[in-house]
Amino acid sequence: MSERRSPLADVRVLTPYVLAAVLGGVVVWLGMWALRPAPGPLSPDPLRGSFSDYDWSAQPAPAFSLPPYARFLKGLTIVLDPGHGGRGDRVGWKCGPTGLREAEVNLRVARFLRDFLTQADVNVVLTRDADAYLDPDDKKDLRARIAIANELRADLFLSIHHNGDDNSSATNYTSVFYHAAPNHSPASLDAARHLLNGLNDALRLEQHLNSGLISDYAIFPGDGFAVLRGAWVPAVLTEASFHSNPNEERRLRDPVYNRREAYGLFLGLARWAQAGLPRVRLIQPKDGCVKAGKEIIIELDDGLSSRGGFGMELPQIHAESLMVELDGKSLSHTADFTKRRVRITPTRAMIKNGARLRIDFANLFGQHVLHPGVVLKAGS
Ligand SMILES: [Zn+2]
Repeated sequence: MSERRSPLADVRVLTPYVLAAVLGGVVVWLGMWALRPAPGPLSPDPLRGSFSDYDWSAQPAPAFSLPPYARFLKGLTIVLDPGHGGRGDRVGWKCGPTGLREAEVNLRVARFLRDFLTQADVNVVLTRDADAYLDPDDKKDLRARIAIANELRADLFLSIHHNGDDNSSATNYTSVFYHAAPNHSPASLDAARHLLNGLNDALRLEQHLNSGLISDYAIFPGDGFAVLRGAWVPAVLTEASFHSNPNEERRLRDPVYNRREAYGLFLGLARWAQAGLPRVRLIQPKDGCVKAGKEIIIELDDGLSSRGGFGMELPQIHAESLMVELDGKSLSHTADFTKRRVRITPTRAMIKNGARLRIDFANLFGQHVLHPGVVLKAGS
């Protein structure tokens, strides 16, 4: 007959072991708590001015994939203008400290950008595709470049440059220029904003202006850049970085870095296109000949509705942004944002050959009409 032990006897035997295990755990936990590291900053904080342990300029491995929204670029006409060219005879002109020519870098970036845009089915035109000028006269050369975009009625003219600072080799930041006052061509500013952000993301320069979006009047008051001044289409000029900075000049010699810059421009353009590119169309009178008392109807294409899809039947235009002007003066009109129509009843005094109607608005992404001008013909 086996001896039967009471359950209480088992508990009495195990109790010292259980207590020892619990006590041991408490001792280990107290030890870890006492030896815990002193609290430090949660993470490096570049926004508070300390960049020492946060290297924004460390470049990620190149990955030049096309984002899905690049499909909105399809069918656009973009003129790329690699700045300068054909002036190898001007020793030291537009060169970095060890002689890298800006014209050469501009062309390399433009060619890489053409490759990206062509993959997205953009009609790309380069103002030059060799180390050559369009005209031996500098002023005529600039006029010839923008004339290409005007004749094509391009959706964008993009002049690609790199900057130089004669006074300091340390300067190196990104800037994008538009012409004249902000209301001169809001559509140009839309493109400029996206290009600036694309370049900032791609190049990751440590210096950053308070705003890198600059009027060319800041350089030439009242005149601006000739290549932008002559534009009848959206036009911007990028100065991605400073070739006068020795470190930047070294980077600019590297084709992978040039391609990275082109990719930043490409992403900027893809985001610009995905935000919708508004247009206006004269739909009445069909022959474009305007008669007094006969209503003019303009279609407002916000660049988004026509894509269709969820919620896109709702208005995509900021109503208060609509501007209707004739030869620079505000014109009375009625607008229907659901039907996307503007109606104007012209008076006899208003109609004259070549009168220029300007219709602009901002869509929900803040994008303005690419070609806001409508030229009216006087009907008999
Ligand atoms: Zn330049």
